[in-house]
Amino acid sequence: MRRVYLDHSATTPVRKEVYQAMIPYLTEKFGNPSSVHWFGREIRKDVDEARERVANALNAESKEIYFTSGGTEADNIAILGTAYALQDKGKHLITSAIEHHASLDACKALEKQGFEITVLPVDEHGMVNPADLEAALREDTILVTIMHANNEVGTVQPIQEMASIAHQHGVRFHVDAVQSVGSLPVDVQDFGVDLLSISGHKIYGPKGVGALYVAKGTKLANISHGGAQERNLRPGTENVPGIIGLATALELAVKEQQETYQHLVPLRDKLIQGLTAFPDVTLNGHPEHRLPGNVNVSISRVEGEALILSLDMAGIAVSSGSACTSGSLDPSHVLMAMGLDHQTAHGSLRLTLGKSTTEEDIDYVLSVVPGIIERLRKMSPVKKNRED
Ligand code: PLP
Repeated sequence: MRRVYLDHSATTPVRKEVYQAMIPYLTEKFGNPSSVHWFGREIRKDVDEARERVANALNAESKEIYFTSGGTEADNIAILGTAYALQDKGKHLITSAIEHHASLDACKALEKQGFEITVLPVDEHGMVNPADLEAALREDTILVTIMHANNEVGTVQPIQEMASIAHQHGVRFHVDAVQSVGSLPVDVQDFGVDLLSISGHKIYGPKGVGALYVAKGTKLANISHGGAQERNLRPGTENVPGIIGLATALELAVKEQQETYQHLVPLRDKLIQGLTAFPDVTLNGHPEHRLPGNVNVSISRVEGEALILSLDMAGIAVSSGSACTSGSLDPSHVLMAMGLDHQTAHGSLRLTLGKSTTEEDIDYVLSVVPGIIERLRKMSPVKKNRED
C-alpha cells in the first residue's frame, strides 16, 4: 500500500547526514564532556563546537546557547527561569491563547504559585493583535511569551513588532520557534528577542534535544538542580549524540530554508485548494501568514478521529486538530480560541508537509479524501440542514 506521511509538525525522520554525524558519539566518542582526561576533553571540544554552530545558525553568540532536552524544556526554562529570577520586580506574565502546552502549562504552574498571567486572545485566523499586547503590559510585567508559528494551524505571528513593544516597556520577550526554524527565517537579532526555543526532532534531527537562546545579560534562575553542566542552567550529563545531531540538523535546515519553502508552498496550496473545493470544508489558520507546510481544515459533519483512522487505513498519516489523540475529548484549545464551535473543532484535520512530500503524494490524498468524507458524512448523525 502507498504510504504518505503528512504529520511533519509532529515529528520528522532523522536525515542521513545527521545520523552519520551522530554515530561516532554513540560508539568510540563516548567520553563524558565533564571528564578531565582526554576522552572527556575531546568531547567537550565537540560540544562547544556544536554550540558555536547552533549560535551561527540563529545569528547568536556561542555563549548565548544552552542545550536542553527539547522544546518543552527550553520553554520551561525560559518561562519559569525568568519568573523565579525576576519575581522581586513583578509577578505578571503575558502569553497567548494558542501557545503550545509547553508554554501554556508552565504559565499555569506559575499561576498556582501566585503569579498572574494575562492570556491574549487571537482573531479568527489565530493572530495575536500587537495592540492587545501593548494594552496588557503593566508595571509589574516581567515576561511576554508568544510563539512564532503555531503547531496546529501554522499561523505566523509578527514577533519583531511584539518584541519591540515589550522592550519599549522594559519587558523581556521569549519566542517559541520550535515549528518555524528551518521553515521560515529565524534570526535572534532580527527578531530582537531575549529568549528563543528550538527542538531537534522538528528539523530532521533527533528527539530529546533542543536549545534555548538566552541573550547576553538575561538573568535566569535554574529550575532544576544538579551538576554544573550548561553553566548550571540545565544540569545533567549532556546528550552528546543529540547535541551533535541538533547542530548538524539546524545548520542544514537553515541553509536549505529557502529551498524547502519553495518546495512546500505550491504543494501546500494545491492541497488547500483541493480540500476546500469540497463542500463544507474550510481552512483554519491564516490564509497568508502561515507555515509553508501546514494545512489545517475543518470538515463539517465529520468526526476528526474517524477521518484520521480512515486515512490511516488508506496509508495516509495525518493528525487531528482536536486533542482526542491524547485521550481527552476536549477540542483543540487553539481552534476554540479562534472561535470555532466544538463540533467544527472536532471535525478538523492537520496535514503537515515535509521535504520528502511529492506532488504524487498530494494527488493521492486528494483522490482518497473525498470518498472518505462522503462515506463518513452518510454515517454522521449530524445532517446538513441541522447546521444551516
Ligand atoms: N513548542 C511547539 C510549538 C511545539 O510544536 C512542540 C512540539 O510539538 C514543542 C514546543 C515541544 O517540543 P519537544 O517535543 O522537543 O519537547
